[in-house]
Amino acid sequence: VKDAGRNHYTYFAPHMNQLAADRYAMVSELRGAAERDEFLLNFQPIIGMASGRIEAMEVLLRWQHPQRGLVPPMQFIPLAETSGLIVPIGEWVIRAACAQIRAWRAAGLQVPPLAINLSAIQVHHKTLVERIAAILREMEVGAGALEFEITEGSLMNKTDEVVSTLRRLCGLGVRLAIDDFGTGYSSLSYLKRLPVDTLKIDRSFVMDIRSDAEDAAIVGAVISMARSLKLKVIAEGVETPYQLEFLRALGCDQYQGFLASKPLSAIDAARRLTQRVPD
Ligand code: C2E
Ligand code: CA
Ligand code: CA
Ligand code: CA
Repeated sequence: VKDAGRNHYTYFAPHMNQLAADRYAMVSELRGAAERDEFLLNFQPIIGMASGRIEAMEVLLRWQHPQRGLVPPMQFIPLAETSGLIVPIGEWVIRAACAQIRAWRAAGLQVPPLAINLSAIQVHHKTLVERIAAILREMEVGAGALEFEITEGSLMNKTDEVVSTLRRLCGLGVRLAIDDFGTGYSSLSYLKRLPVDTLKIDRSFVMDIRSDAEDAAIVGAVISMARSLKLKVIAEGVETPYQLEFLRALGCDQYQGFLASKPLSAIDAARRLTQRVPD
């Protein structure tokens, strides 16, 4: 900007300042959002291919902003990550998910495991495992009530540290899934070292299964690799019956997507859990 000359500088500066100011405002609003009760959780059912039942639910964070309205995670999670706020916000998510499990159990519901997203920043944070252990003790839900989803991308740096963190996390008794699988570059030998139970195939591969022979081949290869490594496979973003039947035929274990259900409010999720599917 400096070398571009005075005219350019004055031309771009107001726009750049506006953007920076907006990001700055959003970060400072994010800082108090949990205390102001602006966050809420949605729950998206994960359905067993064989059972047709809800076997887990993914926890998805929502920010209900008093002026901006419902801010999608794609807009505020990256800001929370660069500002470091993802660490306290992520803890809020874990605690709120545990509180929801307790409330549902108290209402007599059979609650399936809840899958919580962890950002790379959280995975690389020194005290992650201790904090999760403390929340589990404090909330008394049992480690089996929670699963954590870690994106394939966050496994790429400092691999020895990540392996050790995941082993300690697994030692607490929670289950681990690799999220957005297929978008990173994990090698088979690396995957074998991780105490992971599940691979979640990224929506971008599922989307074009019907029209793109290469995507269909990738999905097939991921499922057969997962099976030979004794990992469970979940397909995300399943929107059509064609996709569902294709994935079922390949041996995929569970699926998630608008075909079965959009992410639900706590009230709607509880309603879904009480709808008993006949055996
Ligand atoms: P993700 O973990 O890959 O979550 C799945 C996203 O796909 C969700 O978007 C979900 O609403 C959407 N989705 C599910 N089924 C379908 C479908 O059939 N079609 C389409 N088009 N979309 C579908 P959402 O809720 O907007 O979340 C976006 C991302 O934000 C998540 O991607 C995750 O990376 C991040 N995120 C959400 N909640 C949290 C959180 O509590 N912590 C962290 N660190 N990240 C979160
Ligand atoms: Ca996820
Ligand atoms: Ca995902
Ligand atoms: Ca995704």
